[in-house]
This record gives sequence, structure tokens and C-alpha cells, in this order.
Amino acid sequence: MSDILDLTIAQLRDGFRKGDFSATEIATRYNEAVDASDALNAYLEKTPELALEAAKAADEAKAKASDSLKPLSGIPLGMKDLFATEGVTTSAGSKMLGNFKPPYESTVSANLKAAGAGMLGKLNMDEFAMGSSNETCAHGPVISPWRREGSNAAITPGGSSGGSAAAVAARIAPGATGTDTGGSIRQPAAFTGIAGIKPTYGRCSRWGIVSFASSLDQAGPMARTVRDCAIMLEAMAGFDPKDSTSIDAPVPQWEKGLSSDLKGKRVGIPREYRIDGTPAEIDALWEQGVEWLRDAGAEPVEISLPHTKYALPTYYIIAPAEASSNLARYDGVRYGLREKVEGGGLHDMYKATRSEGFGDEVKRRIMIGTYVLSAGFYDAYFTKAQKVRALIKQDFRKAFEQCDMILTPTAPSAAFGLGEKSDDPIAMYLNDVFAVPASLAGLPAMSVPGGVDKDGLPLGLHLIGNEMDEQSVLNAGLAIEERAPSIELPGKWW
Ligand code: GLN
Repeated sequence: MSDILDLTIAQLRDGFRKGDFSATEIATRYNEAVDASDALNAYLEKTPELALEAAKAADEAKAKASDSLKPLSGIPLGMKDLFATEGVTTSAGSKMLGNFKPPYESTVSANLKAAGAGMLGKLNMDEFAMGSSNETCAHGPVISPWRREGSNAAITPGGSSGGSAAAVAARIAPGATGTDTGGSIRQPAAFTGIAGIKPTYGRCSRWGIVSFASSLDQAGPMARTVRDCAIMLEAMAGFDPKDSTSIDAPVPQWEKGLSSDLKGKRVGIPREYRIDGTPAEIDALWEQGVEWLRDAGAEPVEISLPHTKYALPTYYIIAPAEASSNLARYDGVRYGLREKVEGGGLHDMYKATRSEGFGDEVKRRIMIGTYVLSAGFYDAYFTKAQKVRALIKQDFRKAFEQCDMILTPTAPSAAFGLGEKSDDPIAMYLNDVFAVPASLAGLPAMSVPGGVDKDGLPLGLHLIGNEMDEQSVLNAGLAIEERAPSIELPGKWW
């Protein structure tokens, strides 16, 4: 029998049902692997007992009657630390929340639990999900299991869902939750050679997810295959009256609907995504992706998304604006950290708490956000950004009259080394150039592994779908997955 850690979620589910192994064996094997992976700094909190508890319930249900099993019975998962988990520390990667133990469970993690999944632990991330490299975390960066060929330098797994990406790539979780505000599922998936999908805004409830930018934040799965993403997303999604932006629509059976036959489908190639300075190997992979989709039956069509060049500046106004408002709640009174000042008053306490509790990137965002929302600059920045956002949405609406899905690269480069960009926020923000337009438009988008760069590091291809059409994204992702070379970690250094 192959090692449990080598199996996909679908294989684990089916193997467990057939009796190849018990759920307890799966959880135990994963708990051991998690314990032996501290060098990656992927898990902030380990919960082996929760993985075992769910496994025991799955084994008992199976012993009674196999039809009492749930979709994810027997599957242990990793949880990004942005999801509130009842009684389990939820820090959002910040000193500010410290060891906050929520008395409630987020809807998405509750949905996964209700579907039978166990939890292996809480996964490291950029502080409050702000970042592209996992270096803004208060608990130290995640180290990617990948290394450049012939080098021992530590590489970023991307961010902000870097712990999730590293855990899936290193096989210390068969799948993990992520969140994506402006690329945080897709960019780390691309950097670590795995798959990840951000669904349509509103598909997954935001209730119980620590807020970053509420009009953009969306949860989604990260896993080794497209099928695994479909399985997880089905369990995570669904209407939730506790989130006023949750979509009241049934959850499609995405796994059943999987088909890599793209006959009759048109794939849009946006002219404006050809950006000066993009490495030739990224362009070459993009061309290759078009050929793979053509081979699957799709017809490539050139499309135009004329406002693309404004997406990044628009995002970096709207996201900080919403963040500055959302993060106002961390005042030392209601949550986590409280720094008292000898002889000081309430304002001194606020100031000391926020100075001490937030890291540099979070402070930068709060300052930018406060500035663009200030009375004198509101119209010049925030109102204008909202208008441009509407134009970006309109671009996509028009484009989807000509095509069924859009193909682009996920990120403008492969993973970079730790420390290489941390002193240059603009270079860091540029990582999101291909990811943010779909976020601003609220559209489903996915990264799937496409190939490797000259140093042997993974590269991703990015599919954007029309509103509510996750199925087309998943199907095109599957078509690429079936044709792309399989990307294997060269070895284990940790
Ligand atoms: N890298 C982007 C940022 O720093 C996106 C983050 C995210 O999607 N959570 O804002």
C-alpha cells in the first residue's frame, strides 16, 4: 500500500470507504507528519486530538453503516489561522489577538466539521492576511518546502495563505482552507505547485473569519488536485444568514460536474495582461496553457480588459480603507492584547496597545486606509477607486459575452527568497497584479500548477470564470492538470 501521505483527498475518502485503512490510521499518520515538520513553521497550533476525535467518529459511523458517512468523513484538514475555531487559539498571525480563543466557530470551519472533516491544526499566515510572502506574521515566516535547484536558500511559500500552501505541498495536510482578498489563495498555490480556488464573492460565508477587507475577503480550498478543491469547496460553501453578503443559492455538485472536455467553450486571453518585464518563461507557460485548453477542445479568443492597469492601485486603496475601518476594533478593550501605561488614560492605552500589537505592514495599511478615507481626500481616492472598481467589473461583464473563462498566469514570477522583497512594499504588491482584478470583480478564480521555472520552482496558471460559474473554472483547471507535467517536490530537507 502506498503511504497515506501520498494520497489525494478523493483517494483517502475512497480508500477509507473500501476499508483499505481506517480514519484513525489516516489521522495518526498525518499527526506524526505534522509533528515532524516544525522546520517549516507552517502550523501555529497543532490539534492532533481534534483530528483523532473526528477520525474516531468516522470509524464508528462506518462500523455502523457505510451510508451514515459524510462527504469528508475520515479526512483531516489544516485550517488557516484566520478562521475562528472554538476553543482553539486564533491569532490571525498577529500579536494583537495573542492567544485569543474564540467561544464560537466560523461558518466555513463549522461546515467542514459538519461534513465529517477533522482539524490537524491552525496554519500560519501573514498578519491579518496582509502580505504576499508570509513574512509579515508575528510568529515568524513560513518556509516553503521548495528550494531552488542547487541552493539551500529559504524560499517563500507566498502569502497570505502561506502556511496552508506549504502544508499541502509538504504533505502535512491533504487539503487546507485559505482566504483570498487579493490573491492569497492563488499566489501561494502557484508558488508551491498546488491547486487553489477562490469562489465567487459570497459563496462562502465570511462569518467568523477575521476581517481584512470585507468587500473582497473570500474563503476557498487549497489542495493537491482540482478534484480535491471541488470536494472541499462543496463542503465549505453555502448560504449563511449570519453573513449579509452571503449568496442565497444552492451549492452545485462541483465534483460530479467535473469534465475536462471543453468542446464548444471559448477561452479569453486578455491582451492587457501582457505586461512589460514579465519573465519570458511566464509568457511561455501562458502560451502552453492556451495550447492545453485548445487540445481539450476550447477555442482561444483574444479579449480586452481595458482597465486592468488600474486594478492594483484601486485594490491598494480599497483594501487598506476597509482594513483601517475593520481593524479599529482592536483597541485593547475587547480583544487580545492590552498594553497599560503607568499613570496614563484610555487614549494612552489604545495607543500603546496598537503600537505594540500591530506589525509594520498592518500599520502601513491602517495609515494608507485612514488617509484615503480622510475628509480632505475621500473623493480623490476612495470614491474614485470605487468608480474604477465598477469599470473593472464592467470590463469582465463585457468579456464574458465573448468567452466562457479567462486564462492568465497566476503571478509574475516564481517564488522568491525570504527577505528578497520585504523591504520594498511596491515590489511585494506587484505580485498581485494578475490576481486582484478578479477579486475586485468578485469573480471565481483558480490557480493550477503549470510547470517549473529555470530554477525548478513551480509556476501556476490562472483561470477566471464568470460570476457563479466555478464549474467552468474547475473544468478548465482539470483540463490543464491532465496535460501539465506533474510537479513533484524534489526531496525533503526539513
Ligand atoms: N497580497 C495581497 C495583500 O497583501 C493579498 C492578500 C490577500 O489576498 N489576503 O493585500
